[in-house]
Amino acid sequence: MLEEIKGIGPKTIASLNKLNIYTSEDLLTYYPYRYNFYQVTNITNDSGDKSIVINGTIASIPRIFYIKRTLNRLMFKFNTGNVLINVTIFNRGYLKPNLTINKLITIIGKYNPKNNSFMASDIKLTPIMNMEFEPVYHLIQDIKRANFIKILNNLLNQNYYLNNYIPDEFMQKYHFISKMEAVKIIHHPNSELSLKASRLMLSYEELFVFMLKINFLKQKRLLTQKCKIKTFDDNKITTFIKSLPFTLTDDQVNAVEKIKEDFNSNKQMNRLILGDVGSGKTIVSFIAMYMNSLAGYQSVLMAPTEILAVQHYDNMVNLFAKLNLNIKLLTSSTSKKERLSIIKELYDGSIDVLIGTHSVLNDDLKFKKLGLVITDEQHRFGVKQRENLQNKGEYVDVIYLSATPIPRTLALTIYGDMDISKIKTKPSNRKPVETKILKYHDLKIALSAVLEEIKQNHQAYIIAPLIEDENGTNLETTSELAKKIDLAFNHKIPIGILHGKLKGKAKEEVINDFKENKTKILVSTTVVEVGVDIKNATTMIIFNAERFGLATLHQLRGRIGRNDFACKCFLISDQEIERLKVLEQSNDGFYISEKDFEMRGSGDLFGVKQSGDLSFKIANLKTDFKVLLQCKEDSASFLKDNIRNLNQFPLQKEVLESISQAD
Ligand code: ADP
Ligand code: MG
Repeated sequence: MLEEIKGIGPKTIASLNKLNIYTSEDLLTYYPYRYNFYQVTNITNDSGDKSIVINGTIASIPRIFYIKRTLNRLMFKFNTGNVLINVTIFNRGYLKPNLTINKLITIIGKYNPKNNSFMASDIKLTPIMNMEFEPVYHLIQDIKRANFIKILNNLLNQNYYLNNYIPDEFMQKYHFISKMEAVKIIHHPNSELSLKASRLMLSYEELFVFMLKINFLKQKRLLTQKCKIKTFDDNKITTFIKSLPFTLTDDQVNAVEKIKEDFNSNKQMNRLILGDVGSGKTIVSFIAMYMNSLAGYQSVLMAPTEILAVQHYDNMVNLFAKLNLNIKLLTSSTSKKERLSIIKELYDGSIDVLIGTHSVLNDDLKFKKLGLVITDEQHRFGVKQRENLQNKGEYVDVIYLSATPIPRTLALTIYGDMDISKIKTKPSNRKPVETKILKYHDLKIALSAVLEEIKQNHQAYIIAPLIEDENGTNLETTSELAKKIDLAFNHKIPIGILHGKLKGKAKEEVINDFKENKTKILVSTTVVEVGVDIKNATTMIIFNAERFGLATLHQLRGRIGRNDFACKCFLISDQEIERLKVLEQSNDGFYISEKDFEMRGSGDLFGVKQSGDLSFKIANLKTDFKVLLQCKEDSASFLKDNIRNLNQFPLQKEVLESISQAD
């Protein structure tokens, strides 16, 4: 309990909750995401252009110069022990009362021997002795760094006990330091070596637990295969495929074949369909549901957002208009009456296909004969959900659709409990989206491209990175951005605003207006990322593109180029141009994912807002990839030796049992 920590009050608890810190364990495992490293040196005449760290005493009363309301300059003389130098620092006027003559402090910055001046970027009132790793945490404005560290230290000093999930055999085999020691060091490293050792221990633990779950699911599946063979009239499938307004690509045909094989065997299907944005996974999933229904079972298609659910529903109803398939949509906006009727029809078996968001798996929905569950955008659903799905009926097959192309070796590991079908080739009518990086001050180039397209009766997306100014950063918010765009176009172009906080009807209206071409521009956060399919949209502008991973940007731009028109995507950024260039050069999601993996690690592979089991506290799927592979092996061998003996491993047992429990 957080209340038990010394020096903590309700206000601080509320702020910590905003960081998803609810327990002492959460706080202790809220790890720094990086460190500032300071090594104290001496002034030399050839310090060059490097930032250096110097100890010394204050040798003159500091003077403040106010330059603007928001800009001041503090200057004082500083005695390093062998020279006297002139120190300047900006915007630290408030430090003046603390900077008394003869006080020992540390200054950090650059020395210029020509005029004996030191331009400081930071001042430490508590001097750094020799060297220091200063942890940097992701914090929000409500909670000051100093306060956060004080509370954390109080907790560390209370000798709180943390569970260690690494079995003893591996603790010994790898000579890991103890968990508590590792946690202490991660917050207060005293050397690079010990920091590495604690990172390794903590990453190993996290990845071990993750792989233990995956391997457990895999073993369990091999042991308990009891799915019935599902048979159906293949001719009906062939006829349906022929009736489509396009021919399936080879990869789509292969995926369909594999799904058929899975149905026709007594193996429980557990298949991941991995394909780039726009590669046509949806139609494959529709065909699977058709097969399942011909075999006499009900299907569920679960989308991560309501927008997507509605879209899938519309598409499917359209494509199956001539067939006798009862398809229903269930979301949080479904009326109570409609909901009740759906519950009834699911139970009596008259619904063949139910499409919706997570809510389709609520326990109050009882299926007569559920046979297939499909989840779209697999990465939003964690290991636990993978297990829960299969327990929804006696013969439930599962298909996951994911538009996050990930490197092969990684896929084989984190999806080690599934079969994978890849859809690589895109439908041939697609023109690649032309992508261009622009500096912010060249924004008008992008805006005039948007205007040109709107004159052709086309539409545009404009992506803002955040809904609101949560962190006090000056990133554009959707409404601010919409205002600016509106002004830039002289209030002549109708603009819609879409963000995650918009709910139900309001959200539907915004999307419908855009779908019906009533609004020409949709200013949105990344909520459009997953699957929104508006073919008339031909341009996209993404602000602060450097904030996103390459895979996310690639998914975002996949919202356009869903038609025969030439489409343009503008990435507005003044930073990280080299990284963004990958997108100018390639339209191949698998290539981009490999590059993303190389350049940034896995952190962003799965989108800005990671959720589910792939958001690790400390492990990084790229830099710790070797550790991941080792954990794969170790957890498999641990399970093999101990699966019948788990009572002796209460912590690991608890982890494995938690996968099967409902949320
Ligand atoms: P995603 O893989 O991103 O889910 P979708 O399934 O939404 O992609 O497909 C994108 C668009 O491509 C849809 O409008 C769909 O009708 C169309 N499509 C799918 N397969 C083909 C194909 N073989 N040829 C032409 N168009 C196709
Ligand atoms: Mg899709």
